[in-house]
Amino acid sequence: MYMPENYIGGRWVSAAEGGRREIRCPADGTLVAEVDESTAVDTEAAIAAAREAFDHGPWPGTSARERGDLLLRVADLLQRDKAEIARMESLDTGKRLAESELDVDDVTSVFRHYGLVADSHGGRVVDTGQDTVVSRVVHEPVGVCGLITPWNYPLLQVSWKVAPALAAGCTFVLKPSELSPHSAVHLMRLLEEAGLPAGAGNLVLGAGADAGASLSTDPRVDLVSFTGGLETGKRIMAAASGTVKKIALELGGKNPNIVFADADREAALDNALTAVFLHSGQVCSAGARLLVQESIAEEFVAELVRRASGIRLGGPFDDDAETGALISQAHLDKVTAYVEAGVAEGAQVLVGGGRVTDGDLADGYFFAPTILGGVTSSMSVAQDESFGPVMTVETFTDDDDAVRLANDSIYGLAGAVWTSDAGRGQRVAARLRMGTVWINDFHPYVAQAEWGGYKQSGIGRELGEHGLAEYQETKHVWHNIAPAPSEWFGGAR
Ligand code: NAD
Repeated sequence: MYMPENYIGGRWVSAAEGGRREIRCPADGTLVAEVDESTAVDTEAAIAAAREAFDHGPWPGTSARERGDLLLRVADLLQRDKAEIARMESLDTGKRLAESELDVDDVTSVFRHYGLVADSHGGRVVDTGQDTVVSRVVHEPVGVCGLITPWNYPLLQVSWKVAPALAAGCTFVLKPSELSPHSAVHLMRLLEEAGLPAGAGNLVLGAGADAGASLSTDPRVDLVSFTGGLETGKRIMAAASGTVKKIALELGGKNPNIVFADADREAALDNALTAVFLHSGQVCSAGARLLVQESIAEEFVAELVRRASGIRLGGPFDDDAETGALISQAHLDKVTAYVEAGVAEGAQVLVGGGRVTDGDLADGYFFAPTILGGVTSSMSVAQDESFGPVMTVETFTDDDDAVRLANDSIYGLAGAVWTSDAGRGQRVAARLRMGTVWINDFHPYVAQAEWGGYKQSGIGRELGEHGLAEYQETKHVWHNIAPAPSEWFGGAR
């Protein structure tokens, strides 16, 4: 059944030009729903509503504690609707239901975090050394925010932007990925139920070029925050320069997973698989680039290959499945082309290497967990993000060699070091040019700590202390409480 799904100025409205898109589950092709497919006309209406709500509505002037309380109410509502939201996420993305349930818990933690810290960033008084001046620094909302998100963790990526933007007192237009819109629609219902004023939060569904592009060019938007691929990020950065918008970019990664010979072998093996095959590698921080110390490489990789060949693929509601489908035919084609390019450059497929079409899997976009050996750092497979279930293997001799290889990348999102020598772990971590480094772990994050990339993995930080600051301007107010003529032009008096 079709229901209007754009949310503009506090009203549910259909796409102005009547566009519709079919959403099909990537695991089996079943039709999930038809949703609105917006154009720039809808986005402009949403921007106008967000601008009006920022300039004349109550939200920016609502106390920070009240804004935080609204986010805490949303956190409770997310838990109330957890089963429904998880099901939507799994149908849209093909992700295992158990993973989607964990994702809803993560989304809830993000709303709780920003709910709690909303009033903790109140500014400061500056000591000028003059008793006739009161000088203070205050934080104010940036204004209207254009929020653009990807499909891999649909609601989680939305929450990293919507929650701090609202905590700061901004208004927003959200454009989620056209491939996974349902959880964003549900979130807008929860914001409405929690009492968000009309126009403070707006949603447009549709493709990037049609529904998203004007968020980077429209002068009424003050900030654009984007999570997605590197090439799209560059386009958005260039477009946003026309009106000098504040910009936050969370882009791709090619994340090294460094295993030293002295690592706990079982933990390193098991986590090397999780690092890259979780959600079929469709994770920005996926540990797709295994760097293993030469002395253990042969045995370590042989065991990885044995285990990877046993990974069970399946749909979201298959309780035995360990990982799921890729998001789309286009993405399946991209991952296939990436492996083919690696082979053409001399890499060897040690396991997997292509699409899986056994039984029920034939109707979905399943790609076999793949390990490529014989890789050197100059090959495209060692440098480019595949965003699929593909691990490349390179070897290193010592700490310096590991650091050199790990940093040989245009990206700097995340990486891991496996070693039983705590000093080595810290020393290597300190030399890695990445926004997140795990020692003897892979993937965990907490809403209280910053997330973001060095180098071409992005600009700015989400989560943690800086996550809220991204959505604030900082103003210095200098109050001279004993005004007097200046001394400069006394001669003209
Ligand atoms: P994508 O760049 O194709 O699309 C992301 C979003 O941008 C979508 O909503 C899309 O519609 C929109 N878009 C596309 N062109 C646009 C334009 N010209 N103007 C405005 N919006 C536009 O990325 P994707 O395939 O959805 O996501 C995968 C990528 O996201 C990977 O590279 C992954 O590493 C990255 N990612 C990064 C993080 C992080 O935290 N750094 C997290 C998740 C995903």
